[in-house]
Amino acid sequence: MAEDFKSLMGELIQDAYSAETQLIEALPEMADAATTPALKQAFQEHLQVTQRQVERLERVAEMVGCDPDGEDCEAMEGLVAEAEEIVDEHEEGPVRDAALISAAQKVEHYEIATYGTLAAMAKACGLQDAAELLAQSLREEKDTDELLTEVAEQQVNPAALRATAANDPTPRKKGSAA
Ligand code: FE
Ligand code: FE
Ligand code: FE
Repeated sequence: MAEDFKSLMGELIQDAYSAETQLIEALPEMADAATTPALKQAFQEHLQVTQRQVERLERVAEMVGCDPDGEDCEAMEGLVAEAEEIVDEHEEGPVRDAALISAAQKVEHYEIATYGTLAAMAKACGLQDAAELLAQSLREEKDTDELLTEVAEQQVNPAALRATAANDPTPRKKGSAA
């Protein structure tokens, strides 16, 4: 394996490790802020998944021969800051839950990109075991993204719309979007 490709992989693993450890701090706060039981549960379960992903990255780092510590994922710092901002801006309830889902899905998509790239790199380097561990985390992030879409479509978005309609006494203009 070319030395510079290996060191690039090491940097990306460290970035992913930083991102996941930030989420271990953020997910309990997101679970606390959520009011829809299915959303609260999704965040709590994803915290446990995230803890396993952190351990998986430690194993991957060992296989690649790098330290998992060493980078700060600034993108995740930004995504977590946006999640905090959006929670502060809205009252507890379904609208805030919809905001939480929007923030969480941005996080999952960032992670999907991260694990997709890393799995492909590990595979290219012939690190089959590392590639499989990364692909496992990739599947978990995709499953979580899909679950969040489901909770939004089936529960949170309709409730947010009802809450908004209940607070808005102005009759809707004819022809305006619902
Ligand atoms: Fe993750
Ligand atoms: Fe990053
Ligand atoms: Fe995730």
